[in-house]
This record gives sequence, structure tokens and C-alpha cells, in this order.
Amino acid sequence: MATCAIVGINWGDEGKGRMVDLISRDYDVVVRYQGGNNAGHTVINEYGKFALNLIPSGIFRGEVINILGTGTVVDPEPLCGEIGRLRDAGISVSADNLKISDRATIVFPFHRELDALEEARLGDKKYGSTKRGIAPVYGDKYQKKGIHIGELQYPEKLKAHVASVLEWKNLTIQNVYGAAPVVLDATMAWLDRFGAPLLPHITDTGILLRKASAEGKNVLFEAQLGALRDIDYGIYPYTSSSTPLAAYAPVGSGAPSLKIDSVIGVVKAYSTCVGEGPFVAEWFGPEAEKLREAGGEYGAATGRPRRVGPLDLVATRYGVNVQGATQIALTKMDVLSYLDEIPICTGYEVNGRVTQEFPFHSELDDAKPVYRNVPGWKEDISPVRDYAALPAAARDYIELVEKEIGCPISYISVGPGRDEIILRDR
Ligand code: GDP
Repeated sequence: MATCAIVGINWGDEGKGRMVDLISRDYDVVVRYQGGNNAGHTVINEYGKFALNLIPSGIFRGEVINILGTGTVVDPEPLCGEIGRLRDAGISVSADNLKISDRATIVFPFHRELDALEEARLGDKKYGSTKRGIAPVYGDKYQKKGIHIGELQYPEKLKAHVASVLEWKNLTIQNVYGAAPVVLDATMAWLDRFGAPLLPHITDTGILLRKASAEGKNVLFEAQLGALRDIDYGIYPYTSSSTPLAAYAPVGSGAPSLKIDSVIGVVKAYSTCVGEGPFVAEWFGPEAEKLREAGGEYGAATGRPRRVGPLDLVATRYGVNVQGATQIALTKMDVLSYLDEIPICTGYEVNGRVTQEFPFHSELDDAKPVYRNVPGWKEDISPVRDYAALPAAARDYIELVEKEIGCPISYISVGPGRDEIILRDR
């Protein structure tokens, strides 16, 4: 049996989906272990172009079992939509190849509503939530007011549970936000419409994973966001509400006893960030515009323009460390081809001192990037499939990053397509 986690090292959107799509050919099971439909993994393959918000990127390989694990939060309404879109594109999605942990937590419409109400209350201090209800639902989960999707299998008990949660939730909705209360019948009708079709997919994923492990099957864990969005280790509070770290993958899958053999950390060749919060190596104005255009940096789930800047070695080294990455996939190298010189952020100046250590989040607002310029290569590298055939300046860039972050770079992607990748023989 082999187990591997594919995780983000930075702010997310590093290209994890395309790596899972590639690597899943060697795996029998692909598991999403945290988060909800606030992600957008873009996958381009022979079936077309897809933005997967919740379904694991192994869904394109018919024989792979895809799991939404115990640590995920599942909004049945967009999930039904995502299943429908995949089926329309000719992808088989069945109870055999998509499994949902009975312990995954349901995202209700009132979670989305609360997300929007809170962002509106925060005004210009907003967190930049995707308003998919993720923070409210994780809040409820940890207050033990969540509803597990497996409860759909027990309709008589479910109604009483939903009623008691709504009674509690309406206190906040009405008294804090002054909004209209959530109605039980409408909520149960919504569950009937969007929850019932998911029933055949719901299972104890622990049993499934332990069986897979006993049979020597290979399991791939797919993270949804980058390390800097981790609730414990990220740039708090500009984080997500869950743990995209590899160490959490077995817990969030349903089988905490599984061990992870390798961790592929996905790093973009430059930095991007969606939403609010400190982003030290940020570019503004025309140079940002050029990079954003070159990289097509608009969120897959939201369409929001991403904040952009040069590769940040301080943040990347930190991400590699908290993820426990054993190898790196460096993505979007082709995007940098337009630059004469490529700046890299090598340190942060904080209170007059230059540091290479990622500071505590309270210091990040005052941190200034320290840049070093390296030569660009100024040629189209997207057709290159062999490391030795890359221009010397591109190889120098890769080897500098590798040395600075202390982790081998085994994959270099030079385009979004499945085969636009250099597998580095090391
Ligand atoms: P994820 O959430 O980490 O899977 O990343 P996203 O899907 O949000 O963002 C990655 C974007 O970059 C997608 O639009 C991919 O198609 C695209 N992409 C991935 N790898 C490459 C690459 O090597 N070159 C280029 N030009 N685009 C890439």
C-alpha cells in the first residue's frame, strides 16, 4: 500500500487539482479530507475543463474511488449541481466511485446566509469569505451543533435534530443580525430535494479505507487549500476554518490510523492570494496586472481577481515545513517567461531586522519584502518535457528555489494540460 498527500504550500490555488489529476493514475482511492465547496480545483483533461469545488479530482478516472471525508463540510445543493455537470460532460459519477463520509457535516442555506450577514456586518474589515457558509458551519461543528450527513439515513430522528438546531440558530439570526428566522419545513424540504439524492453515496469511509489498506490499495489525499490558510498555522484570522495540513489527512478522511508515506507540496512559481489579509510580497499597478494576465489569476470558484507577486521564499519555506513536504511540484513556470528579470522575495524586514523566518501573524502587517533579482529566460517553455531541455536560467531558478526551501522539486509544470509537465529524474 502507498499513501500520498497532495497539499498546497502557500495561499491556495497552487495547482493541486492538476497534480491530483496526474498522480491519481497510480492510486485506487482519492480523498478530500477538509473544507467545503469554497475551493476551486481546475482540471483540464481529455473530457474538457472543470472547476471542481467539492468532488475529488480523481473522479475522471473511472476505477478510482473518490471520498469526501469526515473532515469535510458538504453543501448538498451545489454538490448535486457539480455531480450533474460532470455527468453532462460524460463522466460517470455513481455510488461506486463517489463516497461521502457519514460523519461529514452538512452545510445548510442558513450557513451561507450567516456568512454573508457577517461579512456585511464587518464592512471594510471583512475577511474576504467566499460566502459558502464554511466558517459558520465549522463554528457549529465545534459547538456540537452540526448535523452529520449520515443523519439523512434516519429521517425521524433527523427532523427533531434539525428543529433543535434551528431553535438555537434562530436566536443568532434574529437577535444578532435582525434577519428572518429559518423555517423548519422549508429546511426539511431542501434536505429532501438535495440531500436525498446523495443517500446512496453516504457510507462509513473508515471501513472502506481500512479495507482498502488491508487489500494493499493506494490512497491519495487531496488538500483543498494552502498551508497559509490553515486554521492553526495560517495567517489567522485570514485563514479557512479547517486544516489543510497533510498531518490531518488521515483524521479528516475517516481512518485516523493511516500513515502517510509521501507529501507532495504544490508551489506556484510566483505568489497569489485571494481575499484579505497580509500578503507581504505583493505587486500593485501595471506589473501586477501583467503577471495576473499572464497567469490568468482569477479565482476558479468565485472569479475574483487574485492578488499577485513574486515567489515568497519566507512563506514557502514555512509552508514546506508545516506541511512536512517530502517533494515539491513547482507549477506555472511557463507564466514567468515574459519577465526579463525575476524578483524573488528572500526575506522580510520586520522592525528594522531582516528575517528568513515566517513571523507571528501580528508582525506581518509591518513586514516589508526583501527582493533579489535573478535572470529570466524569455522563451516559451510550455513545449518542454525534459528537464535538461529547459533554458539554463529556468533551471537556475528551480535549483535556487529548491536550495532555499530545502525540499526536492520533482515536478515542474509548464502549462495547465495533464501532460504539460516535466517529471524530474533525480
Ligand atoms: P488548485 O485549487 O490548487 O487546484 O488551483 P486552481 O485550479 O485554483 O488554480 C490553478 C490554475 O492554474 C488553474 O487554472 C490551472 O488550470 C492552471 N495551471 C495549473 N498548472 C499550470 C501551469 O503549469 N501553467 C499554466 N499556465 N497554468 C497552470
